[in-house]
Amino acid sequence: MGRRRKIVQECERLMDKPENIRNIAIAAHIDHGKTTLTDNLLAGAGMISEDLAGEQLAMDTEEDEQERGITIDAANVSMTHEYEDTNHLVNLIDTPGHVDFGGDVTRAMRAVDGALVVVDAVEGTMPQTETVLRQALRENVKPALFINKVDRLINELQEGPEEMQERLQAVIGDVNELIRGMDEERYEDGWKVSVQDGTVAFGSALYNWATSLPQMQATGIDFADIIEYNRNDEIDELRKHSPLSNVVLDMVAEHFPNPVKAQPERVPTVWRGDDDSDLAEGMRLVDDEGEVVFMVTDIGMDPHAGEIASGRLFSGTLERGQDLYVSGTAGTNRIQSVGIFMGGEREEVERVPAGNIAAVTGLRDAIAGSTVSSVEMTPFESIEHISEPVITKS
Ligand code: GDP
Repeated sequence: MGRRRKIVQECERLMDKPENIRNIAIAAHIDHGKTTLTDNLLAGAGMISEDLAGEQLAMDTEEDEQERGITIDAANVSMTHEYEDTNHLVNLIDTPGHVDFGGDVTRAMRAVDGALVVVDAVEGTMPQTETVLRQALRENVKPALFINKVDRLINELQEGPEEMQERLQAVIGDVNELIRGMDEERYEDGWKVSVQDGTVAFGSALYNWATSLPQMQATGIDFADIIEYNRNDEIDELRKHSPLSNVVLDMVAEHFPNPVKAQPERVPTVWRGDDDSDLAEGMRLVDDEGEVVFMVTDIGMDPHAGEIASGRLFSGTLERGQDLYVSGTAGTNRIQSVGIFMGGEREEVERVPAGNIAAVTGLRDAIAGSTVSSVEMTPFESIEHISEPVITKS
């Protein structure tokens, strides 16, 4: 069996184990490294070749992207990651980096349960860091922090271990101030990001290494060692001991909630229908035998398949041939095909159960933000557009 087929089979197996699924977004101020990080996570997880991921930085034409079989701007990518002897399916939804796309960012947040916030170590938190955090908290999505471009502190700013730690602490402090200001209750309740708790990682997406407290404890490699590896031009060694994808995906698996844990808390935030209904129960339980409740977060174009609606399936199972209601429109649409993402590509499968990110064709009336369901229902809350940090007038 080919390698690709094997990975698809593994994704299909994991699809049925919601405890092993993590639906996450990577959100960042523009240029802080979201694209580079995503690409290297995929490469590290074996979903694209490591060599090609390295070359990506020099490639940006569409043709090159197609040759590599991955679209850098893909709305969704999925990968598998083994953590503590258990394989996980990590579905990653892209969030646009520009403030003008505030609405899209919130839509993406609706489909996920965890937000990996990327902050450039040199620039620190920026207006869009605040915007994406606000969007995450408003959607009841748990944050974790990745401080990127740490190589610049070493190579450009020539910082020593203490200075570096001070700077990283300052970034963590700023992020926590933002979280606390937005949702004090959640902050006190464990959503504060912290090195000790393992909800902060730092490293270099460009040079493909990262670390965190658990990683430092496991490898014995501290800040002084990291500086040495960089100064001595031994990045390959550092990468071998502390590979970006392992460190970041370990954090994702350990600290972001799976759909079974997340949905009971998230559903009341995003849906105002009857709490006592079977629909609500189906969503709370991530019931694959319940009614289909699917939130569309993105409509993409496929040259062969046409329009593809992707989003989060809160309950039920999506299958070809189903007739589904689309919020705000009359009648039903028939599902033509269902798929999941593997790397950045869509892969058709027989069925997709609740808790997953699905990609379907046939929903001709759906738009990003539509609620798609097997019974007529109260749609999900309309998505609030936050295009810039809220400035309170004194
Ligand atoms: P995005 O806008 O957040 O998707 O950012 P990109 O991933 O496109 O990165 C923006 C720029 O920062 C590019 O020139 C990257 O090569 C560079 N970059 C990304 N990560 C790092 C890093 O860890 N270290 C350094 N020095 N540069 C980086």
